[in-house]
Amino acid sequence: MNNQPKPGSPIIPRNKVDPTQSYRAVNRMYRDIEQRYYDIKVALKQLFDMRLTGRERASNSMYGYILARNGNHPDTLYQVNAGTYIYDMTAAQLADLLQVVQTILDDHLLEGGSQNLWALDYVAAEYQRGTLNAYTNLSVQSPIYASQTTLQQLLSSPAYQNQIASAFVSTYSDWKLESDKARGDLANIIADSIGRGVNPRETASIVSKRLDVSISRAKSIAQTEQVGALREANWNETDWASERLGLNTGLLHLSALKPTTRQTHAFWHGKVRTVAAVREWYAVNGNKYHCYCGQIPVLLNDDGSIFNKGLADKLAAERKQWTTKEAA
Ligand SMILES: [Zn+2]
Repeated sequence: MNNQPKPGSPIIPRNKVDPTQSYRAVNRMYRDIEQRYYDIKVALKQLFDMRLTGRERASNSMYGYILARNGNHPDTLYQVNAGTYIYDMTAAQLADLLQVVQTILDDHLLEGGSQNLWALDYVAAEYQRGTLNAYTNLSVQSPIYASQTTLQQLLSSPAYQNQIASAFVSTYSDWKLESDKARGDLANIIADSIGRGVNPRETASIVSKRLDVSISRAKSIAQTEQVGALREANWNETDWASERLGLNTGLLHLSALKPTTRQTHAFWHGKVRTVAAVREWYAVNGNKYHCYCGQIPVLLNDDGSIFNKGLADKLAAERKQWTTKEAA
């Protein structure tokens, strides 16, 4: 027995269905995304009004479909009235039009460029919030940690700065990929419409529907990036604290335990894993997508259990209750 004070209990987020407490931050980014796509649609409409020129054909239209693709996979069929319109555009004019489409997408989805991308503010904010979470949690649990760590010191450390820099690279690449995907998608639809004589109004409407698909992908990217940054910050400080101070730390998994929660995610609710194990788990099986789980740093006994037995029991009971409800 030593005379060390008993470690304080980790702080469990109050809102159980949102263990990362990210709802508001993610929603702010969603609003930003919606505004960006709205602006894209307005810009494309102006472009189409100006450049998609030709004349209506009097003869009967042919009922048909335009097939949109998601990568190489056929995705959605859009019903169109083909053959009603004769475009007065050369191949060079079409190529030029598609070039402008790309510029419009890039202007809005890659605003700020790789050094200062619009999305980086959101991601960096979550990284900082995650670091604050970890700092607060470790401080209440470990007097040694509390006496030897300041938030300022964490935020200005080279390791922290490197993590932010690395998040910037991956965030930019996510958005570059989505902008390219959307451009490829729209290029196919526009070229197909022109080739088959679908009138400009209908073409614009299919383009708009296609952008809605891109919006939902963009929102998924945003959620993954933001919550991912928050988790990453928690994981890192958990590791760094044990390296700096020799603390026995681990990650306590908190699942949202919603009806939509994957069983494989709920399974870990209330259980402790090493940072390396959690990292590995998120790298496979699409675990990082649409995941609302959080992990908080915890101080561990020599046997790897958390100090607060009552908390461990309570979380295990929650897990069991969810499993029973899902099985019912
Ligand atoms: Zn999850």
